[in-house]
Order: sequence, then structure tokens, then C-alpha cells
Amino acid sequence: MTSDATDGSTADAIVVGAGPGGSATAAWLAKAGKDVVLLEKAQFPRDKICGDGLTPRAVRQLVHLGVPLDETDGWAHNKGLRIIGGGMRLQLDWPDVTSFPATGMVRARADLDEVLARHAQSAGATLLEGRNAHEPILDEHGRIEGVVAKVVDERGRATGEKETYRAPVVVAADGVSSRLSVKMGREKREDRPMAVAVRAYYETPRHDDEYLESHLELWSSTPSGERILMPGYGWLFGLGDGRSNVGLGVLNTSEAFGRTDYKDVMRRWVETMPPEWGINADTMQGSITAAALPMAFNRQPLYDRGLMLVGDAGGMVNPFNGEGIDYALEAGHAAADTILQGLARRDADGRERVLASYAETMKQMHGGYFTLGAQFAKLIGRPEIMRLATKYGLPRKTLMHFMLKLMANLPEEKGGGLDDRLVHLMTRMAPNA
Ligand SMILES: Cc1cc2nc3c(=O)[nH]c(=O)nc-3n(C[C@H](O)[C@H](O)[C@H](O)COP(=O)(O)OP(=O)(O)OC[C@H]3O[C@@H](n4cnc5c(N)ncnc54)[C@H](O)[C@@H]3O)c2cc1C
Repeated sequence: MTSDATDGSTADAIVVGAGPGGSATAAWLAKAGKDVVLLEKAQFPRDKICGDGLTPRAVRQLVHLGVPLDETDGWAHNKGLRIIGGGMRLQLDWPDVTSFPATGMVRARADLDEVLARHAQSAGATLLEGRNAHEPILDEHGRIEGVVAKVVDERGRATGEKETYRAPVVVAADGVSSRLSVKMGREKREDRPMAVAVRAYYETPRHDDEYLESHLELWSSTPSGERILMPGYGWLFGLGDGRSNVGLGVLNTSEAFGRTDYKDVMRRWVETMPPEWGINADTMQGSITAAALPMAFNRQPLYDRGLMLVGDAGGMVNPFNGEGIDYALEAGHAAADTILQGLARRDADGRERVLASYAETMKQMHGGYFTLGAQFAKLIGRPEIMRLATKYGLPRKTLMHFMLKLMANLPEEKGGGLDDRLVHLMTRMAPNA
């Protein structure tokens, strides 16, 4: 399998994929002095289909990593979330808690991901772009001991060259399809929610909105003309550079899922926007693109036989709101911590036990919360529930403040008020699956 490949290098850890999850893992390992190789199939800057929205949970991780976050560094800061639906318009500031900053941000992924990859590189990680790490190298027990990477040029074409990289642990941070996990027999689970989302960039005077805006009423129609309220939301996230990221995401828990043309729903939604927003086919940059959001740990185990899953590869998108960047960053931190402790063990058994503890660490962090989110996703998949929630929930500001804390996962971590404690209680009571 590897005879035609050139030996790249041997490292303490190999990370496959330089999205937020992979770059965070590599940065944390490199900061601790480890020799880490970060393999990315694309060349930066590269795009990633996303809403580009960062809630305070993601910002906290960026602060922790030491990424410069001033507006002059290219970040569009925001104060909270505006929710529109059921004839209501509600503007909620990010919760004022000590555990999280009261600031969200927006940054195009073409920039964000390069910033994070370069951050890992300057911390000492070896970033190799144009490396498609498609094949695991296994030892005689079926444990991964490295990867084979095809070298690809800047247009994504294979050059015919192959390289091998070896390490005691490999991190799959290669996104929703995670080919590396699939090659190791880890298929995605069908009992977890998924979503599909579409987005496009538009030039618009609304680009410097100080709030993230979400629209709860997305309508589709059946072939017989019946209107269906979709379980999901549309968004307008201002990038502060003349553009807004506009898109919508829909959960697979509704009957209409898979039978709906989401790009068409998006086009029709955009047509209903006020002309003064300037959001229309003429101001669209590029095209409407779609991708899937894997939720609630839909690929498991998160560690087995030397391969650790981080971010979308392990299905770490929040089912309540479709956020995945913060969870990928957090998983990268937890993965790096576990790897550091594992590598410090002198015996192979001890190392393996520590590495395996990553799965439990992640479940302790988010297992109950994701289960709760999956139940929520199932509930709002029923149009009548979605309609009731919009009609009776939105007019109640106190309830909506609580829902923001719950859905964006922003409760005070220690102490806090009744609402914070309620979020923790609900999370603890949900099974850790
Ligand atoms: C339309 C849409 C809107 C979204 N909006 C938001 C939002 O506003 N906020 C939010 O927090 N989340 C959002 N998400 C979710 C978010 O995009 C993901 O959860 C997040 O990108 C996960 O990061 P990651 O590092 O795990 O994976 P990715 O960002 O997917 O990174 C994976 C990396 O691996 C590389 N790779 C893949 N295969 C290989 C290989 N074989 N060899 C080497 N490299 C490889 C890829 O090129 C890529 O760079 C959205 C998702 C979608 C689809």
C-alpha cells in the first residue's frame, strides 16, 4: 500500500484537515512543544460553505488560543441576536455572564480558516497544504500508525506523488465526510439529526449590522401547493466589509426533508426581502452553495485504534442552532490535552487508556446537551409545534432570553442565576449518548 509513497516524516501527532478543529488541535499541541504535522488537502485561502457566524462560545475559544481579535484585524463584532418570526421582532444581547464574552463575531471562512491554520503554524505546527490524507496505514493489530497523503496541486488535481506520515496518534479533523474515519470503519450514525444548509454572499447596506439576524419562518410548498413551515431558520450575518452571508438551514426531522429544493426555498425567501436591503440576484457574489451539518456526535467512537475524531468528523454540530465552529475548537483543545497526557505515559497500555478517555471527556462536555438538542430537533420537525413555538414563544422576552442561553449554550458555568442552573439541570438530566 505504501511502497510507491515517499516517506514524509514521523511526528508526535498527525492532524488531518486544517479547518477550525484541526488547526486548534495542532496549535494546542505545538504550543506544548509537540512535533505535530497538520495535513490539509486544499491550499489557503480556501472557502468553506458556512454562515461565518461566531457566538460568544466560539469567541471564548479564539481568545483562549491567543488569536488577535480586534476589528482592525478583520473581525466584524456583534452584540447579540435579532429574531424575526410570527410578526415579531426581538433583539437580544448576548448574555452578560463571566464564563463567556458578551461579543459575537462574523468572519468569512476563507479568512478565518487561514488565520487559524497560520496561527497553528506560527505556534510550531508543520502545516502542509495540498496533501489529501486519504488512506490510513495500519499496524498488524489494525491500529492506525500513520497516513498516506496524495499530493495535490492548487487546483485540487493529484500530481501522482504520494507521501507517508507516521505518529502514535492521528486526529481526523477532515470534516463532515471524514473519509479517514470511514476507511477505519466509522460510518455516520443514522439515529442522530442532520441538517442541510445553503448560503451565498450578497453586497448589501446591511453588512455592518450589529446583530446577527435569524428568521424563523421559512416556507416551502408540497407539489399539491400546501405550504409547509420548515424546521430551521434563515440568517443574515453582516461581514462588515460590504457583504452579508445570507443562508438557511433545515433539519432532517421534518417530512419535507430530502424532498425540498433548498436553493429554491432560499431564492424565494430572498425575493421577499425589502428592496432597500439590496439583497437580490444582482448583488449575489458567486452562487448559492449547500452542505450538510452532522449533529449530536453522529460518528462514534470518538477514539478507537489510534484515531481521534474532532469537529464535524465526529458530528459535533449543536442541534439547537447549527453551530459547529465553537464545538470543533473546543474538541481540538480537549483532543490536544488528551494526546499530551497520553504521550507522557511510558507504557503502551497506559497511553492507550488515556487516549481512549477522550471519548468520555467529550461526552461529559456535550453528551447530555446534544441529546437535549436532538430531542428539540425532533419536536420542531413537526410543523404544528414549530408554529406554536414561534407564536407563543417569541412574544415572551424572559423566555426568549432563556432560550438564547439554552440554544447558544451560553449559561454561566459556575453559579449563575436560576436560568443558568436550569440549563445545567436539563443538560445533566438528558442521557449522555
Ligand atoms: C451552510 C452552513 C452554514 C454554517 N454556519 C455556521 C455558523 O454560522 N457558525 C458555526 O459555528 N457553524 C456553522 N456551520 C458548521 C461549521 O461550518 C462546521 O461545523 C465547522 O466547519 C466544523 O469545523 P471542522 O474543522 O470540524 O471541519 P471543516 O471546517 O469542514 O474542515 C475540514 C478540513 O479538512 C480538510 N480535509 C478534508 N478531507 C481531507 C483529507 N482527506 N486530507 C486533508 N485534508 C482534508 C478540508 O479541506 C477542510 O479544510 C455551518 C455549516 C454549513 C454547511
